[in-house]
Amino acid sequence: MQKIKNYINGELIEPIGKEYIDNYNPSIGKVYSFIPDSDERDVELATQAALKAFSTWSITPKEERSRILLKISELIEKNLERLAIAESIDNGKPVSLARMVDIPRAASNFHFYATAILHDASESHSMEDSAINYTLRTPVGVAGCISPWNLPLYLFTWKIAPAIASGNCVVAKPSEITPMTAYLLSELCIEAGLPKGVLNIVHGYGHKVGASITAHPKIPLISFTGGTKTGAEIARVAAPMFKKLSLELGGKNPNIIFADCDFEKMIKTTLNSSFANQGQICLCGSRIFIERSIYEKFKTEFVSRVKKMKVGNPADAESKLGAVVSKQHMEKVLSYVELAKQEGGTVLCGGVQVKLEKEFSEGYYIAPTVIEGLDYNCRTNQEEIFGPVVTLTPFDTEEEVLMYANSTQYGLASILWTENLTRAHCMAGNLHSGIVWINCWLLRDLRTPFGGVKGSGVGREGGFEALHFFTEPKNVCIKLK
Ligand code: NAD
Repeated sequence: MQKIKNYINGELIEPIGKEYIDNYNPSIGKVYSFIPDSDERDVELATQAALKAFSTWSITPKEERSRILLKISELIEKNLERLAIAESIDNGKPVSLARMVDIPRAASNFHFYATAILHDASESHSMEDSAINYTLRTPVGVAGCISPWNLPLYLFTWKIAPAIASGNCVVAKPSEITPMTAYLLSELCIEAGLPKGVLNIVHGYGHKVGASITAHPKIPLISFTGGTKTGAEIARVAAPMFKKLSLELGGKNPNIIFADCDFEKMIKTTLNSSFANQGQICLCGSRIFIERSIYEKFKTEFVSRVKKMKVGNPADAESKLGAVVSKQHMEKVLSYVELAKQEGGTVLCGGVQVKLEKEFSEGYYIAPTVIEGLDYNCRTNQEEIFGPVVTLTPFDTEEEVLMYANSTQYGLASILWTENLTRAHCMAGNLHSGIVWINCWLLRDLRTPFGGVKGSGVGREGGFEALHFFTEPKNVCIKLK
């Protein structure tokens, strides 16, 4: 069986402790490869390699850094099919989704930041004729990048690309649940001629590798995407060390549907925003609020279409939903369905594990689930489930639905469906979230700020926000007279 390797100082190497973790294929529920169970010794090796590389990489002309990043982007595109299949096997997502979304986006992340550094400029502030200030932006040093399992290569590269584009070196840790495409990326970085030590990938558990990166005194910056609880733990360790922190955390996003929306457009997109990637996207709209006058119409139409969504082998082009990422996660999601019932909810469809045939019989499949009849403030409607489960709740007024929408500890994204321009702008201004999509979902321009408020995170990724996060600004003031 294949053994994944760490990528340290330009080489693919075994973990020092020679220990490995089982890597499961969730579509069949079986181990198919092994992941290094690295520890603080491997993190130390990676950090030393990154520190050494930093002295050269940080002064490498941006045109040269750009050229190498573009090469990595090209290689991802060239290997799209191989990477998409690997992502699907590792994560359980439909290969069609990985082919259309995950892998192209990973290529775009490198392409975007390869070109962004060529167009970035720092500020200058003139004090009339008495003095002039200008801002120098220098790379921070060694950046620690830690990412989750739901969009493995997509989110891993979303951090690494701006970090190395702006002249930092990186010690990165992909999720131990989905390490494969990060491993394949390390091979592509070698092929692209990325100088050794610029990017180091250490595989393993969060409490070992992730915690060592977070606590390492020579890693002054942490970019993290994952759960809110883990984010709080990282902040607890990193804050007293005065590390720069970017935390992209959980969500419990509202999808607000007014009666005046374009019904067909809304319902098609809502199927997607509810169940894409088996509902395992931090931006999915898991709480659907529907204006009372169209509640019954929406419910009938939505449930009938959800029932037709095929749950199946992720490699099958017909499958709309593949497997959820792990047995443990499947059990967690199904436990929330039980909780919803205890809280007085009615399951309109789904709510159960789907047993497929033959080699897929041990896979982790859940039928897309729609629940109604719950209070907006019950646990099912307040806690992140992160699976193919949505709730339906009617509302009467804008004030009421705003209160529902803003009632959770999270504030990542909101989705709004209305043809009323004034209402759209007013609601967008009053929703407590970092992102508001109006009459669309997951439409992304990589230049825009991306992130959440409240328990959904601190800081923003995307565009120049990310480039600037990975640099330290210094003001230089020159007196003229
Ligand atoms: P997680 O927090 O369990 O793990 C994320 C990463 O952190 C993994 O690599 C893990 O190994 C590592 N980790 C775990 N404990 C650690 C520790 N003590 N110190 C350092 N690192 C540690 O999250 P997950 O289950 O992999 O991902 C799902 C979560 O991610 C959901 O809450 C989802 O909403 C969130 N998410 C957020 C965004 C966003 O952009 N806001 C995007 C995707 C996913």
